[in-house]
Amino acid sequence: MLLDRIDNFDIFRPKMDASKEVLHGIATFTADISPVFPYVNAELGGWDYDQTNQVLLLKMSDGKWITLHPQKIAIRGARDMAEAKALLAWIQGQINDIYVRREAITPRHMSQAGLKVMEILKLLPMTNCKACGYAACMAYAAALREGEIRLEDCPPLWEEKFREKREKLQAYLESFGWRALDAD
Ligand code: SF4
Repeated sequence: MLLDRIDNFDIFRPKMDASKEVLHGIATFTADISPVFPYVNAELGGWDYDQTNQVLLLKMSDGKWITLHPQKIAIRGARDMAEAKALLAWIQGQINDIYVRREAITPRHMSQAGLKVMEILKLLPMTNCKACGYAACMAYAAALREGEIRLEDCPPLWEEKFREKREKLQAYLESFGWRALDAD
């Protein structure tokens, strides 16, 4: 097991805004978990992966973040102590499970943070039709970059006349390992 013991887990309210109803937590341990980062990045879809400093940022679906450092895990945005502890237990389980399975996983070294909104926008129909629920294609492009929506949410993109754009957009997103936040 790569991460068998957490030595300390501090849970606190962020000092920047103590009125916020969220908690942050920092877990520390002696094991070095950085060897599993490229595999966790592949399996869980890391938002940003800094290979130089070995920092992997995981964006969760409801405004929570988990940041992995070699000997530290930071959790941001938990609703309460129970959720902070549950998130830590979950990521510890993921790290250990992925580490065991790593030889069957293709490591991923890229990250979604490199996607450019303007590049996405250029590959959309750009009709500002609002069928996606956004007021303009620009807003949809920004949400797509964040993984908050899917390509299927832009109906015109699936029309035959936009096939070339759609395929280019799919290839562009895939080149950064894009995935929706609610993806399995
Ligand atoms: S549905 Fe597609 S084309 Fe229409 S506004 Fe949204 S992103 Fe633009």
